[in-house]
Amino acid sequence: MSKNIVTETVSKDLSLQYTYKKKLYSKKSNFQKVEVVEGTYYGTMLFNDNVAMVSTRDEFVYHDMIAHVPLFLHPNPKKVLVIGGGDGGTAREVLRHSSVTLCDMVEIDEAVVEACKKYLPQTSSVLKNDKLNLYIEDGINFIKNCKQKKVLYDVILIDSTDPVGAASPLFNDDFYKNVYSCLSDNGIVVAQAESPFYYFDMQKKLCQIISNFFPITGVYNYANSTYYPGGAWSFILGSKTVHPIKDLDSCKIKNSNLKFDYYNAELHKASFALPEFQKQALSKFIKL
Ligand code: SAM
Repeated sequence: MSKNIVTETVSKDLSLQYTYKKKLYSKKSNFQKVEVVEGTYYGTMLFNDNVAMVSTRDEFVYHDMIAHVPLFLHPNPKKVLVIGGGDGGTAREVLRHSSVTLCDMVEIDEAVVEACKKYLPQTSSVLKNDKLNLYIEDGINFIKNCKQKKVLYDVILIDSTDPVGAASPLFNDDFYKNVYSCLSDNGIVVAQAESPFYYFDMQKKLCQIISNFFPITGVYNYANSTYYPGGAWSFILGSKTVHPIKDLDSCKIKNSNLKFDYYNAELHKASFALPEFQKQALSKFIKL
């Protein structure tokens, strides 16, 4: 009897296989196939078009690093925008910061939210938080409207899928021009920036785009033992004024009394130290 397996094709040379006990949800939306399974090792897992998005076993790694690096850096983050992130994990970490009074979350695919509300309470519980506004729409249009209405955020997090389909316009100049306009004076943007091993050309292109608009541009890495091919993954940070290492006040982290399973002050600073091949290839765009 064939085992229950989801096969993620990373490239023509690499596929990852995830075994599971039971399929809990499967729906073809207008954007992608959305599935949730009970994994044999990774806990409950969300897949979009057979690409692993979240696992209850170690989603804390990604969500700690996308949220707490910018939120402890910003002098007083009140208004945050999350584009993508339909599972809720990023917004959950954002709203742990007592200074945050509003988190807007813009997910294009209602099926992702529905699946996570039903089967991933670990990340979707945040959707009940009264500081959270959920919009089911294209982040591209949402940010354009924000620009027209002169809406400003302190931090914008791009928690998107890889640059295919609906996510591809999230990896271009026009989008980041609008993001820049929708950030307040000390604004910071952080974007899911793929892998230095498997999607390095995309990472270079995104780093160049963000550096075109932001005077301070950094890349930081983290290690995800499961579901990110190759384990090492990156975020790109664009900042109007705040330096991601020099301006980190470690006392803020300690005094926040927030507990983390991955993030800490030492790791925050160390994560911007890159392996030589990555540092050299991005040196034209990194401005720290
Ligand atoms: N942590 C995951 C990762 O690293 O790939 C991403 C989490 S979240 C599930 C990614 C979400 O981005 C998906 O649910 C997808 O529907 C959403 N998305 C893709 N393009 C979008 C767009 N243009 N506007 C809003 N959401 C979008």
